[in-house]
Amino acid sequence: MPLLDGLLSIIAPHNCIVCGAEDGLLCAWCLPEAFPGLPSRCYRCYRTTSDSATCEHCRRRTAVKHAWIVTDYRGTAKQLVHDYKFGRARAAAPILGSVLADALPYISAHTLIVPVPTASIHIRQRGYDHALLMARYLAIRRNLRLSPIVSRLTQSRQVGSGRQQRHDQLRDAFIVTKPSLVNGAEILIVDDVLTTGATIEAVARILKQAGAKSIDAAIFAQKH
Ligand SMILES: [Zn+2]
Ligand SMILES: [Zn+2]
Repeated sequence: MPLLDGLLSIIAPHNCIVCGAEDGLLCAWCLPEAFPGLPSRCYRCYRTTSDSATCEHCRRRTAVKHAWIVTDYRGTAKQLVHDYKFGRARAAAPILGSVLADALPYISAHTLIVPVPTASIHIRQRGYDHALLMARYLAIRRNLRLSPIVSRLTQSRQVGSGRQQRHDQLRDAFIVTKPSLVNGAEILIVDDVLTTGATIEAVARILKQAGAKSIDAAIFAQKH
């Protein structure tokens, strides 16, 4: 990002994306109503479960035990994520991080917050790592340890849209950079949008292989 654009994206005032008030990306009036919550369910098959647990059936296919998701990817949530990722609205990061922090149940104090690694081309385009920033605000709000210990090996864009296609593409896409931290650890993977689940499942798989004790996920919005 050119320097001037980078500076402007930080200092320029934002208008509320719902009502237009000049009071940040989401004003104090609109924020509480902005993101309708989701029922407690399995993120893969939508079976009702307690505490957003992955159902028994899906547990055979993923290492993710719980996936807490704030809202559906539409309306204000979609607009906010879009502005954050494609409109240089870096100011969305603290909003996303704190909304996520408020939506989570009790999390053990030892939990490591692991953002899904962003492709380096996207970090260069935006001037920031959107998942890392959001995870940092979440970690601060919940007093947890931010641990960006997964890296992306392949920087190619995902072209497949089906779950199987994405699984195949992502099989060798990630690597754990600090395995000694992962062994026996409780982990919370953080991402902005859940689509097929293939990405968090690929990250969860290598964390499991590295000896993680438990793996959960916290995601802002689910796309259907
Ligand atoms: Zn507003
Ligand atoms: Zn399920």
